[in-house]
This record gives sequence, structure tokens and C-alpha cells, in this order.
Amino acid sequence: MDLGIKGKKALVCAASKGLGRGCAAALAEAGVDLVINARGDAALQETAAHLRKTYRVEVTAVAADITTQAGRAEVLTAAGDVDILVTNAGGPPPGLWSDWSRDDFIKALDGNMLTPIALMQAMLPGMIARKWGRVVNITSGSVKAPIPQLGLSNAARTGLTGFVAGTARQVAEHGVTINNLLPGIHDTDRALSLDGGVAKAQGIDLAEAKKRRAATIPTRRYGTAEEFGAACAFLCSNKAGYIVGQNILLDGGAINATI
Ligand code: NAP
Repeated sequence: MDLGIKGKKALVCAASKGLGRGCAAALAEAGVDLVINARGDAALQETAAHLRKTYRVEVTAVAADITTQAGRAEVLTAAGDVDILVTNAGGPPPGLWSDWSRDDFIKALDGNMLTPIALMQAMLPGMIARKWGRVVNITSGSVKAPIPQLGLSNAARTGLTGFVAGTARQVAEHGVTINNLLPGIHDTDRALSLDGGVAKAQGIDLAEAKKRRAATIPTRRYGTAEEFGAACAFLCSNKAGYIVGQNILLDGGAINATI
């Protein structure tokens, strides 16, 4: 399928690895020029070089922390006007509801709610003026079904989901869509670190922890960054203009719900 976005330009945040990288690769495959970001420069440059070589698109790499005002300013200046925005950042650490301080909550809200909102506030006016735009926020299955040990993530991402629900319906008349992609367990460094936590808590090795978690998913396997990226590219495509304010779950059927 021709996604109809060849020659457009996207900013994909937190994209040197994992799901962000999967989204960047799928957009590059569709012929989209990219600005990609992560904090660590080495992996970011490696990803940028790979995408340029594989897909022959322009890739600008900006090493910065997207959750800080200074980092965002650097990324936004390098990006200029973009047609497509994919927001993403690392997730908050696991823990227990009684452990978290106000500072922990502020950090989680900054990373997983206020940062994507600030990026949308920066990019939406240009998209509206040009009468075309796509925003995809990488959130989490935890907004549909809370993950007990990820209370910081549950809280921050639900706040973002509420903001998107209202805002998506205000910008749609300008040809701009905003949707959220909700990952369940995917085979990335983040999943590996959560497997590590399970292994430690249950006194088992990493492979056994992964096997047990995979057994809880109807597909009996973790998702891949490639599958996740393909869904993102479709939402960013010219074909997806009638998909507005949706929360699309990619979890191998793990959340047991009829709708
Ligand atoms: P990952 O494999 O750990 O990759 C995270 C990427 O984001 C890396 O490129 C990392 O590079 C970059 N990054 C992290 N913090 C950043 C920051 N402050 N500023 C800029 N870049 C940053 O994680 P992932 O699995 O792709 O997860 C992506 C998001 O989806 C996370 O919020 C995660 O919580 C959520 N999620 C993941 C899963 C899953 O199973 N994988 C499930 C549900 C939700 P640097 O470290 O160099 O900055």
C-alpha cells in the first residue's frame, strides 16, 4: 500500500532504540524525511546512519533529553516545521503506590504527559496552517488496564490521554489527526529491564521470566518494534485521515476485554 506520505517530514522522539526506532524506520520506508532524537549520541548516530543507508531519506539526529525544556528547544529548533510528530520518552520506574513522592510524580508527569503536550503545542499551529498533520503519541496499554507496579506511568499517561481526547476533536477540521498507540509487552530494552525486575522478585533467571510473561499473552510472544512501527506509519499516512482521537492497543490480545 502506498501510504501517500513520501517527501513529508517527521519528528520522532526517543527513537534511537525500541518502539521509537521502529516508528522512525517504518516512516523512512514510506519515504518520510526524519528528525530523530534520544539522549545518548552513539546509538542515535548509529540509528540515523542505518536509516539513511537503508531508506535513502534525510535524517537529522539531535541528542537531547526531550523531557527538559532546554532539550525540547534544541530538538524543535532543529526540526523546524514538520508534517508528522511521534512523541515518545522513556517510561517511569516501577514501584509501590506508597513509595512515590511529589517529586517522583512531577518527573513522571513531565516525561510522559507534559512533554508530549508541549511538543503538540509547538507543532500543531504549523500543521493547522498547512491543513495537514499527523500526531501519534506512544503511551501504554496501562491507560486501558492499569499495571499495578507502574502507578507513575498509569497516572501520567492517563492525563495525556484525556488531553488528546479533547484536543484531537478541536484540530481535526484542519486535516490534523492525533491518536495514541498503546503498546503491550514488546521486545525492547524496556521490556528486558521489566523482565529483570520480575526475575529478581521471583528468584528466577531472565529467560524464565520472559517465558512466563510471554505465556500470559494470547500470541505467546512479545510484539516487535517493526510491527509497532507499521501501525504508527499507517496512522501517519494519508489513508488515515478519518481516525481521530483513538487509543489503539497493540498487545497481542493481552488485555482481556470485549471492546
Ligand atoms: P527502550 O527500548 O528503552 O527505548 C527507549 C528509547 O527512548 C531509546 O532510544 C532512549 O535513548 C530514548 N529515550 C529515553 N528517555 C529519553 C529522553 N528523556 N529523551 C530522549 N530520548 C529518550 O523503550 P521502549 O520499549 O521503546 O519504550 C518506549 C515507550 O513505550 C516508553 O515510554 C515505555 O514505557 C513505553 N512502553 C513500552 C512497552 C514495552 O513493552 N516495550 C510497553 C508499554 C509501554 P536514550 O536512553 O539514549 O535517551
